[in-house]
Amino acid sequence: MSDYYEVLGVSRDATQEEIKRRFRKLARETHPDANPDDAHAEERFREIAEAYEVLSDPAKRARYDRGDTFGGDLFSQFAGLDEILQQFFGGAGFGFGGMRRGPRRGSDVGVTIELTLDEAAEGVRREIEFAAAVACSECAGSGAAAGTSPTRCATCGGAGQVQVSRSTFLGSMMTVSECPTCRGSGQTIETPCPVCVGAGRVDDRHTLTVEIPEGVDDGTRLRLPGKGGAGERGAPAGDLYVQVRIPADPRFQRMGDDLHHRIRLGLAEATLGSAVTVPLLGGEDMDVDIPAGTQPGTVFRIARQGMPRLRRRGRGDLLVEVEVVVPTDLTTEQEQALRRFAELHGENPAEARRKRRFRAG
Ligand SMILES: [Zn+2]
Ligand SMILES: [Zn+2]
Repeated sequence: MSDYYEVLGVSRDATQEEIKRRFRKLARETHPDANPDDAHAEERFREIAEAYEVLSDPAKRARYDRGDTFGGDLFSQFAGLDEILQQFFGGAGFGFGGMRRGPRRGSDVGVTIELTLDEAAEGVRREIEFAAAVACSECAGSGAAAGTSPTRCATCGGAGQVQVSRSTFLGSMMTVSECPTCRGSGQTIETPCPVCVGAGRVDDRHTLTVEIPEGVDDGTRLRLPGKGGAGERGAPAGDLYVQVRIPADPRFQRMGDDLHHRIRLGLAEATLGSAVTVPLLGGEDMDVDIPAGTQPGTVFRIARQGMPRLRRRGRGDLLVEVEVVVPTDLTTEQEQALRRFAELHGENPAEARRKRRFRAG
């Protein structure tokens, strides 16, 4: 998984203007239509556009900087990508699936996996299964029936494309237009494969082991390039997006990389000090000394017992917040002891009232 700042080659404190300038330059260099012979250009371009889409939006960038990712808006991200392409290159149909129509790239697939907080902290390997196209085994992805093979398109000589000069927002660019005869494939299939009807791919189930890095959060989206659906007749496969879901953990509330745990102390424990046991990730726990005179709401910070930082070194802290529970329903003996204490402490509690209670709230 790539770091968006590294993808764009900017520092973490780059201004919005720098990010925009840098994207414009990179987009121009790597745009697939400017690199018709480079099979990886589209892959690189998508990565750059995705990085830009997040870093150019101050709200999304702030979330990214905190280590958050993009729960829920998996598909709006793709919509955003199209918008960026429109904004920078103008014109409809300029972008993926537009000019470079056939054979089509494989579809992107989204899969959700559920992890416990401990699994997210340690990183985990998971086998996942999903439905998506695979290359047709009957024709080995060629789309042509057994014993036949696709023939070179006579119109474009197999290139599938015709070069044209286009004027865009970035100035004049040589771009390519698909061949009208073969619809961009460079090939003509006279006898299509009966299994895939010439597409070179069929729907099937994929099984894949994915490596979930340590530190992922609920909503983290991992992109696995080329692990989605197979492309048409040997075109590149789509990407697999693995969306992580982490249900709430009863022990900890997560705040970025820090974990928050609440302990409840009695009046005497908070006043006189106490030893408490605090849970840690991985199922262990730790003894913590609470000093005498600890006030309600006090937070103790246990360094480096939080979540590992995703894509970065180090880990967050464990914050232990003290709640002091005021006792209710005292026995007569307890009440007497407390009244005696109040007297010694110069406090002025209400007189004892039999059978009459004031309810809080
Ligand atoms: Zn086939
Ligand atoms: Zn052609």
